[in-house]
Amino acid sequence: MNDRGDEQTASNAAAATKSQALMQFHATDEDDATRREAPGATAPAIVQSENALQRAFERELEDRMTEALDAGEFVIHLQPKLDLRKGQIAGAEALVRWRDPRVGLRLPGAFLPLFEKNGFIVDLDRFVFEQVCALLHAWSVAGVHPVPVSVNLSRTNLLDLTFLQGFERIRELYGVLPSFLEFELAEAFVFEEPRAFFAAVDRMHRAGYACSLDNFGGCRRSLEIMEGLEVDALKLNRAFFGGPYIDPARETGLVASVLNRARELHMGTVAEGVETEEQRGFLADVGCELMQGYLFSPPVSVADFERMLFGREVAAAPSFSA
Ligand code: C2E
Ligand code: MG
Repeated sequence: MNDRGDEQTASNAAAATKSQALMQFHATDEDDATRREAPGATAPAIVQSENALQRAFERELEDRMTEALDAGEFVIHLQPKLDLRKGQIAGAEALVRWRDPRVGLRLPGAFLPLFEKNGFIVDLDRFVFEQVCALLHAWSVAGVHPVPVSVNLSRTNLLDLTFLQGFERIRELYGVLPSFLEFELAEAFVFEEPRAFFAAVDRMHRAGYACSLDNFGGCRRSLEIMEGLEVDALKLNRAFFGGPYIDPARETGLVASVLNRARELHMGTVAEGVETEEQRGFLADVGCELMQGYLFSPPVSVADFERMLFGREVAAAPSFSA
């Protein structure tokens, strides 16, 4: 199956597994559920059942997460960022996947919220960063022309003042230039953890990394914060430029003025989640620099990304061939 099908099957499978587990839970715990429906019960039985199911699902993931990391079940997929003017791949975003041999491909939405809660995200983010460094190293050894690769930064890492030191050690180990690496920080961090956000951007810049603001434009306040951000790129949320409720005639001016202002502030612009030709045409007209989305390519395995970028597979490490 190709990556697009693989990734889409994963989200359908996640929903199916959950409803199947819910049915099993009701079958085995019917008496208990009935008891909870009795007068005086604190919540409807169905809600309690869902909560219990969620806890059981989380326990199962927690029981396996460390072993899964050691066993190489976590892999990175890369989604290309396309230069809208030149029509060339100008970069990539690394996105983690869990290839669970029992259920298939798990997407981050299924496990990252739990890993943020239990702290395992720190190990996983470090693993993803190391995979990206190893890949950039392999490209450099092979003599191909690499493109910068971005990684997402979790809130837990953002709040740790020392997180960059560990990442720096890994980067130096692989001899990779920081200018080929970029951190993506969610727009929500600016509102929720402003001090940590600005401190992290400052430290990243001093170490030579680029950083971008992920999911920009999710709310109207986005425009207010843009001026003082000092990030290298804005990643425009699809809701901002092409959601189903956008009225192009009304919104074109707004999007164009944000892109103009970004240029004046020396920020790059990347449109996320571009799925249609109309969106691509609109973004090209208003001067957006890069686009990322299913229209050009979904996130794909490293081998597929290399075939797209270099015309052949380059990195030999087995963990990249998943
Ligand atoms: P994100 O950073 O905003 O990544 C973009 C998400 O949009 C990805 O979902 C990607 O597969 C999806 N996407 C790309 N193009 C399209 C499109 O055209 N249409 C639609 N509908 N979706 C598209 P994914 O891979 O499920 O990741 C979800 C989120 O999980 C990411 O959102 C990021 O916040 C987080 N994440 C992924 N990998 C990592 C990681 O290694 N570390 C951390 N801390 N977070 C990660
Ligand atoms: Mg991102």
